[in-house]
Amino acid sequence: MNILTFDIEEWFHILDNESTKTETNWLNYESRIHRNMDKILDLLAKNDQKATFFCLGWIAEKYPEIIRQIDAFGGEIASHSHLHQLVFEQDRESFKNDLERSIKTIEDITGKKITTYRAPGFSIKEESLWAFEYLLELGIETDCSVFPAKRAHGGIVNFDIKEPFLINVRGEMIKEFPMNVFRVKSSDIVFSGGGYFRFYPYWLIKNMMRQSKYVMTYFHPRDFDYGQPMIKDLSKIRKFKSYVGLKKAFPKFEKLINDFDFLSLDQAERQVNWDNALTVSLQQRRQGTIAEPQAVFTNGGMPMLSKVHQ
Ligand SMILES: [Zn+2]
Repeated sequence: MNILTFDIEEWFHILDNESTKTETNWLNYESRIHRNMDKILDLLAKNDQKATFFCLGWIAEKYPEIIRQIDAFGGEIASHSHLHQLVFEQDRESFKNDLERSIKTIEDITGKKITTYRAPGFSIKEESLWAFEYLLELGIETDCSVFPAKRAHGGIVNFDIKEPFLINVRGEMIKEFPMNVFRVKSSDIVFSGGGYFRFYPYWLIKNMMRQSKYVMTYFHPRDFDYGQPMIKDLSKIRKFKSYVGLKKAFPKFEKLINDFDFLSLDQAERQVNWDNALTVSLQQRRQGTIAEPQAVFTNGGMPMLSKVHQ
């Protein structure tokens, strides 16, 4: 099962960087989203390929025509938060308000309910698992925020479920479609999204795709925008991750779409046999010497991750 998804944001929505962090910062940069969306949607239409689009509420507010364009194309529309802030840097109330704002803004444009979410930068980490409580509260039924590998600003390291699973939150289930990883010896390689996709040569990606039963992709309009300006104050590593392989990324993506069949998330959801899916529970537990209970994943009553958080 291969799933095609996009995070719909501008080229300057780069995390972990001072000059691209806030709404005020964003006013300094030109908009490039329209031409990038046209390019992506044209290719998908030509190949009769459906996909899921995680849209920023900020994009919906500023450019409602982008949301209408995706909707008219027949894309599944989901939330990628409103202001693209890392989950673990927010308190619970700010997280809830931001998600609620994005859902409402997008729903007002399409008239369709938003039930699917992906956190900016896969930033639901072990210490921010509480976010699932709010996803449930705000009507999110399907989530794509779990990144079961090491990552600069997110990721749940040592989480060993790398295929769709269920999260039991107070007796209700959230369907989780995590990122996939490709195991080589003792390391987990991520190859099917963003900078990872731009970095690896296509023959290798094709090889790993062929050997994977489950592939979750994530692309951004900026992944295919070779002419985009360079943000000057990015750290060396961020610069590399943001601009590596840009020139060849779109032709590579065209090949990928030609060589493999993909599903949108709503199509994939109907194909998964949820009765046989692994289930983890979100529970409040006291850990170590911390007075406040923490949200943790448990399986059969046992905590799945062992780190103690401050
Ligand atoms: Zn994003």
